[in-house]
Amino acid sequence: MTATSDLDTPPSFTGTGTIKNPATGAVAGTVRWTDPADVAQVAAGLRAAQKEWEARGPKGRAKVLSRYAVWLGQHRAEIERLLIEETGKSAADAAQEVPLIIMIASYYIKNIEKALAPETRPAALPFLAIKKISVHYRPRPVVGIIAPWNYPVANALMDAIGALAAGCAVLLKPSERTPLTAELLLRGWLDSGAPEVLALVQGAREVSEAVIDSSDFVQFTGSCATGAKVMERAARTLTPVSLELGGKDPMLVLEDADIDLAAHAAVWGAMFNAGQTCVSVERVYVVESVYDQFVAAVVDDVNKLKLGAGEGYHLGAMIDDSQVAVTERHVADALAKGAKVLTGGKRASGSGSFYEPTVLVDVDHTMLCMTEETFGPTLPIMKVSSVDEAIRLANDSPYGLSAAVFSGDPERAKAVALQLDCGAVNINDVISNLMCTTAPMGGWKTSGMGARFGGAEGIRKFCRQEAVVAPRTKVGAGGNYYNNSLKALKRMNTLMTKMALIGPRRSAK
Ligand code: NAD
Repeated sequence: MTATSDLDTPPSFTGTGTIKNPATGAVAGTVRWTDPADVAQVAAGLRAAQKEWEARGPKGRAKVLSRYAVWLGQHRAEIERLLIEETGKSAADAAQEVPLIIMIASYYIKNIEKALAPETRPAALPFLAIKKISVHYRPRPVVGIIAPWNYPVANALMDAIGALAAGCAVLLKPSERTPLTAELLLRGWLDSGAPEVLALVQGAREVSEAVIDSSDFVQFTGSCATGAKVMERAARTLTPVSLELGGKDPMLVLEDADIDLAAHAAVWGAMFNAGQTCVSVERVYVVESVYDQFVAAVVDDVNKLKLGAGEGYHLGAMIDDSQVAVTERHVADALAKGAKVLTGGKRASGSGSFYEPTVLVDVDHTMLCMTEETFGPTLPIMKVSSVDEAIRLANDSPYGLSAAVFSGDPERAKAVALQLDCGAVNINDVISNLMCTTAPMGGWKTSGMGARFGGAEGIRKFCRQEAVVAPRTKVGAGGNYYNNSLKALKRMNTLMTKMALIGPRRSAK
């Protein structure tokens, strides 16, 4: 199997595979595929090691995670080199991943203890004041992480760090298209002196299914179609899942927006990582009075972009020819239905899986480029007559990952944001919510289920809650159980009912 696979050859994931750089076709490295039958044993090893990891407590785990964060910082250049070889990214795009992970690790390291601190809860009714109630966060032993290829570092570690912080062991399955970077990340974990609570299995669907079958929680990032299959498989063992799926993020440009800012943001948001970002700007709605100005500024920006892998380029290769083919199909469909290409619009000449950064206009919702996730370097722009029309069209989608609103009046933009059906909205910016580890990052509708990050929840999601109810004093603790007379039982139940009805009786008046 190669990353630049021949579309006609069914891939095989047995033995050893060769991964090729999609920009050059050069061999980036080799990988040993895991036999799906071996996954359960790897999970069993993790399950055994997890007990000691949990017992280290938040402080002990924070120390190990800190050493790993330092290792990531020290090996940033090596990781980015491999990223470029494995994915054909531009150096500018590759440079974003490690810092994001270090930021996330730093936030979790500081907050593990607080997030996992047991909570004491009051008794809701006075007669229960004899009980001492506490709620504890206990890690799910093995968290399976199934990742896509677009950000091999971020998708592997964004969730792994939170799960490890929680005290879980992590069974990571990277994309079969980008298995190499994860090997380096695992080496770093072990080189930092960390225990063997992070393990890697390599392969495609069969190995993913074995990961689901062997895990106590599944964190999946990938396409909506695969997300549904993951949920179906996990249902067999009633294993909970968190799904981070695809998107078709809209950008809304209001008539009072700073048009140059909006154009720069739209171009970066659409072309970053060659458009292969879940939260990339996939469609733009511009109010008609500023439409021409916006389109001209966008085209001007796009014409300055340099396409190529590594240093000196803005956007790199697409992951392989199948991804180029999706972009080609969406552009061809738009053109057949009356859209116009203002720049780009075709596969780049020469070798490698490159597609030219493309601006489309005269688009509408009959076209795939406005309704299905393209995951390529395209920016379709639609003229709208009002903000209300922009909101209606933005919500006219099965997806609901995130969105952006540009306006000179942030309060007005916020009012628009709160009418959009999605998990996050950036005002006068794009994608920046990803940096905000205190806020949830998750999709609505078919874009996902649950959220990653989100303050303490980013750690607690990998835990089960355990309530412990203990007697406060020896007096009154315990009861007579079956030795109570029916008369005493009735008296007690009447008293409990009366007490519980004090509140509702008052509110019902
Ligand atoms: P994909 O769904 O094809 O694959 C994702 C992972 O699932 C891979 O590791 C793959 O091996 C595995 N897989 C394949 N078939 C499976 C099955 N039947 N059961 C279980 N696992 C299976 O996605 P992709 O092409 O690798 O990634 C691109 C997609 O990921 C895009 O839709 C993108 O929007 C999405 N994505 C979402 C986020 C987010 O945070 N919401 C982030 C990054 C990428």
